[in-house]
Parts: sequence; structure tokens; C-alpha cells
Amino acid sequence: MKLLEVKDLKTYFSTSKGEVKAVDGVSFSLDYGQCLGLVGESGCGKTTTALSISRLLPKGGHIVDGTILLEGIDYSAMSDKEIQEHRWKDVSMIFQGAMNAFNPVKKVGWQIAEACVRHQGMTKEEAWKRAGELFELVGIPAERVTQYPHEFSGGMKQRAMIAMALACDPKLIIGDEPTTALDVMIQAQILELLEELRKKLNMGMILITHDLSILSETCDKIAVMYAGRIAEMGSVEDIFYRPVHPYTKALLACFPNINDEERTVPEGIPGIPPSLLDPPPGCRFCPRCKAAIGACSEKVPEFIEIEPGHFVSCHLACEGGELNV
Ligand code: SF4
Repeated sequence: MKLLEVKDLKTYFSTSKGEVKAVDGVSFSLDYGQCLGLVGESGCGKTTTALSISRLLPKGGHIVDGTILLEGIDYSAMSDKEIQEHRWKDVSMIFQGAMNAFNPVKKVGWQIAEACVRHQGMTKEEAWKRAGELFELVGIPAERVTQYPHEFSGGMKQRAMIAMALACDPKLIIGDEPTTALDVMIQAQILELLEELRKKLNMGMILITHDLSILSETCDKIAVMYAGRIAEMGSVEDIFYRPVHPYTKALLACFPNINDEERTVPEGIPGIPPSLLDPPPGCRFCPRCKAAIGACSEKVPEFIEIEPGHFVSCHLACEGGELNV
């Protein structure tokens, strides 16, 4: 059995102007111990996908269709009360901006221990001990559990946030831009730590970022999202060395190539993603796609498997991963 199976997930936000189709037919799966990277520009549905899985959608957000199976149990069908029994224990999140997520007037260790008391029924004494063990696990001396957030550096706060996410031994952990606010050295340390913990604890992990380079060393597979849908999904090698979708290629071209002797300046992708209130009827990348053909603006491309484990949603994709032009 897969750890996680997301099938045709649709999550919309109700606004005064209509329904924003933030996630519109997303499917993927994840095995135990595996890491999936979700990448794409801002507003393409990465965070909404994560919040749908953990059922932490903000007001106005609702799952309108699809299933989210975690160890075969359908999360999408659970009531808010039922989901509270599973959150933290089955799935937990490291949020964007975790640096400011701790309550400044409470000891960091207690903010972690509190989750153990509430969700695992531990006594206060047991929970403090557990907080110390978690600190050690993420490389912070256990005696620092009694310190306050202002006594921690940025990197240590991020490590403590990871300890908090691990408090109830989740099977799946979702990191939403967990290293964005950190400098490059600390970022590398945190990513290394997450990878080490994932392997040691055999957890599934979803890593969300807008930075493709972060995913190459940490993920087993990558899903490139665009305008609420997955444009391309495959192994790290598929995405980095055999990309097929024009959007994936354009994203990769946004990074400077250190082997390029001519030192070409990266182009960027002209235009902006479409409004998800009223997305284009065919391929949502069509208005920005240099390879577009007539059918692209009318018909939604299917999400097809062009080789084992490598999926693409583009009218020009065919078996073998070549573009039919
Ligand atoms: Fe470009 Fe058409 Fe493929 Fe969309 S379906 S990415 S518009 S070629």
C-alpha cells in the first residue's frame, strides 16, 4: 500500500468574485521514506495542495472533489473533528515563515511538549523528556528546552520547528518552503537534516519550493505545478535531464548554467500565470507557451505517462518523451 495517494484533487476558494480554482485535478502518490518535491511559480497551487492534505485550508477554501488517501484512509471525507485525531500523528507541517511561529513568551521546549500532551496523552514530565529527545534528534542540546525563542538563532528556531513537526512521529511531513528565510549555509544544513530524518524514520515527505535547485539533492521525484495542475512529474533525472513540458524547460532555463562558457543571461518566462478565477479553457500555459499549437487553447491536455513514472500534460508529448513537432 502507498503511504499517500492523492487522486484528482480539486480545491477551490469561494470569493466575492467567484470560485478560485487553486488546485484543479491534481493526482500523485508517495511511498514510505520517499520525498516528493512540489515546484512552480507563486500561486500555482503548491501550498493549497499541502493544506488540503493536512486539512488546514484557510476560510473560504474547500475540497470540491477528489480523494486524499493516507494509508488507505480518506482524509478528504473526514469532518474537522475527526481530522484533529490524525493531524500531528499522521501528517504534520513545517510552515513558511516558521522563524516567527513560536510564541515568544513560552519556552520553546514546552511548545513542543504541549503537542505531545495533547495528541499523545503524555504526562507533562514525559512530554518534557520527549521534547529533549527531539531537540537532540535535530541537533540542539536537550538542556536548551527551557529557553525562550529569542535565545535561539534563526537556524536553531528552524531546527526546533522541525522537532515540533516530529513530535508525534508523523508518517508524512510537509515542508512548505522550510528554508526560504535562511542563509545558504543554514539552508544546506536544514535540508541535510530533513533528508537524514526522513531516511532514519522512514517518513514520507513533501517539500514545497519555488526553487528547483533545492529539489535535486533532496527528492526522489518532482511534480512541476502550473496554474493549479501538475504540468510534469517524474524522477529527479526526468525533470532535470529529460524535461518534456515547455513549462518545465522554461523553469529550468531561469537558472544560470555554470558550464555555459558564453555566460548567457537566463531569459525568465515572459508573462504571468493566469487568474484561477477564470483560467484559460485549454492548456493553462498556452498564453505563455512558445510551442503552442491550435488545439492548445481549446482542449485540456491529458496527463499521460510517457515512460514509466514520467507524466506530462501537454498536447505535444508522446511516448518516448519527445515533442511531436
Ligand atoms: Fe504548450 Fe500546448 Fe503543451 Fe500547453 S499543451 S504546454 S500550450 S504545447
